[in-house]
Amino acid sequence: MACILIIEDELPIRRFLRASLRSQHFTVLEAATASEGLQLAAQQQPDVVILDLGLPDFDGLTVIERLREWSTVPIIILSARGQEHDKVQALDSGADDYLTKPFGMSELMARMRVALRHTAQHSTASATPVVEFGAIRVDRSRRQVWAADAEVHLTPNEYGLLSTLIEHAGKVLTHRQLLKAVWGPAYTNEHHYVRVYMRQLRNKLEADPARPQFFLTEPGVGYRLELEPGG
Ligand code: CA
Repeated sequence: MACILIIEDELPIRRFLRASLRSQHFTVLEAATASEGLQLAAQQQPDVVILDLGLPDFDGLTVIERLREWSTVPIIILSARGQEHDKVQALDSGADDYLTKPFGMSELMARMRVALRHTAQHSTASATPVVEFGAIRVDRSRRQVWAADAEVHLTPNEYGLLSTLIEHAGKVLTHRQLLKAVWGPAYTNEHHYVRVYMRQLRNKLEADPARPQFFLTEPGVGYRLELEPGG
């Protein structure tokens, strides 16, 4: 049974999270301050950490940095609407995903599934070279891509972007993270590169590029590859 650590000072949100997670048979640990949260994380080694960015003692970004010094545990941050900048900074610092308040139970569970899959992949390392989603098939050992049974030719950067998204499927990736992975650390401010190449990928792979099912935009943050739309 997976153990989830909630670090959040607002009691009503903690109560909602606790009730939702327990109803899905997760073990729940709670902390109302950053220092209490870090202590519990070290003692109990949770499978996922849900972290509020605004905490009374020190802020969530510091918690992420401290955790990342020794742990790869998935971190889902909680942020308020309009805090896009904080969210991006948190993701760049090593958080895995985010939920924007107010959020519902189904959204929370979708994020938990992605986070736990990430943990499982890390512990078993059973990655397969062929990935299929919808009518798209990618053979990563041969760098070949098909859409609806026709082979699709991708440029090296298009393939690099696709491959990075597949590696982190389900997770949101910031512009900066994508640029660093595909183009290199010197290009992390060239946000338009990602926009241009994402449009090309959608044109080549999505059935309806104007209404993408798989290559999703996270407004103000970055992109997410959704392998199971509506699932
Ligand atoms: Ca707070």
